[in-house]
Amino acid sequence: MTYDHILVRYAELSLKGKNRSQFEKRLQHNVRTALKTSFPEVKVKRSFGRMFVQLNGHDEQGVSKVLKGLFGIHSISPALKLENDIDLIREGAVYAIKDALPAEKGTFKVTSKRIDKTFPVRSQKLNRELGAEVLKNTKEIQVDVHNPNVELRVEVRQDGTYLTCRTEYGPGGLPTGTGGKVMLMLSGGIDSPVAGYQMFKRGVEMEAIHFHSPPFTNERALQKVKDLTKVLSRYAGTEIRLHVVPFTEAQKQIHDAVPGEYEMTIMRRVMLRIAEKVAGKRDALALVNGESLGQVASQTLDSMHTINEVTNMPILRPLVAMDKQEVIEIAQKIDTYELSILPYEDCCTIFLPPQTKTKPNRNKANRFESSLDLDAIVKEAAEGTYEQKLSSAEELDKEFEDLL
Ligand code: ATP
Ligand code: MG
Repeated sequence: MTYDHILVRYAELSLKGKNRSQFEKRLQHNVRTALKTSFPEVKVKRSFGRMFVQLNGHDEQGVSKVLKGLFGIHSISPALKLENDIDLIREGAVYAIKDALPAEKGTFKVTSKRIDKTFPVRSQKLNRELGAEVLKNTKEIQVDVHNPNVELRVEVRQDGTYLTCRTEYGPGGLPTGTGGKVMLMLSGGIDSPVAGYQMFKRGVEMEAIHFHSPPFTNERALQKVKDLTKVLSRYAGTEIRLHVVPFTEAQKQIHDAVPGEYEMTIMRRVMLRIAEKVAGKRDALALVNGESLGQVASQTLDSMHTINEVTNMPILRPLVAMDKQEVIEIAQKIDTYELSILPYEDCCTIFLPPQTKTKPNRNKANRFESSLDLDAIVKEAAEGTYEQKLSSAEELDKEFEDLL
């Protein structure tokens, strides 16, 4: 006997009222997409407010690993589907408990539901019979109905009996593709990939935009951003479009025209204008960045207020209230940290003077910008932007991969 299904429980979907079935369908679609290449024989079915993945011979652990990464999944349990036959169910109970408590130590309880009322053994009696069968066939395992180490759940339905025992947790959140599209401002740093991950959790589709300033930032820096995009695409369940903006000319002009302490502020304002244009072309409804309040000079409230002036687009900052350490922990968990700490220059760090104003104001920013031909700068950068679709199925750049 071996597990032949995985039971998938939904996260949060109960909150969604009449949208529920749409969300469930989307999650089913995402599960199918995520599994189809490596596990072509699996079947994915929805039933009674949850989902079953029929393994058809594929490895339970491998499939579970993929499912545990998909947003909208609360938890999963490997499941046995058996005929409604008491001897088979007994054998299944012993198998499931031994699988969950491999050292044959610890406590369990059995919770049965008899949905098929034609099945001759009632729930209470089934609990007792299966409990006794497990005790008879294991060494040091005991029953504890109040606080067991594992719970064996048995559901006798018309189409068969389902047994589950072991539970693992998914990331929760909402299924990708249910929340509209955002444009992630992706640098090569630690924060912005984490910001992207946090947004995926809310079901959005995502494209990314990166400002690149060759030759001041080199090909390796750009490759790092591409590789970060590939890692993020794992959480998208599909490829991600990365828009690369040629930013050298804009930076040079800003550097020449703007006093040092406002250079960062103006540069951010120009980046936002360009990002808004690219987002508009791609029907993205919001920008996302990795700012965290007070982390650096450009991320004070005064800075955000002054920088934000140039766009009406919502700017989502999922990390705004997080500490660096919390961000780093997520970066490590989602496999972006090691890439992010590789030491390549970002366009924001070149040219910039040591002093950046922590309290820039809008009046001065507008005055300093008036000597720039902003329309031309934004137009040229937006027109020179090229895109590349990146997917986690592709290899990471070899040099980086060795480091991970
Ligand atoms: P990160 O670790 O994401 O780089 P940070 O703490 O280093 O963030 P900054 O470098 O000041 O902070 O950048 C703030 C945010 O601006 C980033 O999180 C990112 O969303 C955006 N950003 C910065 N540089 C770029 C870039 N070259 N291309 C696209 N977005 C950028
Ligand atoms: Mg940075």
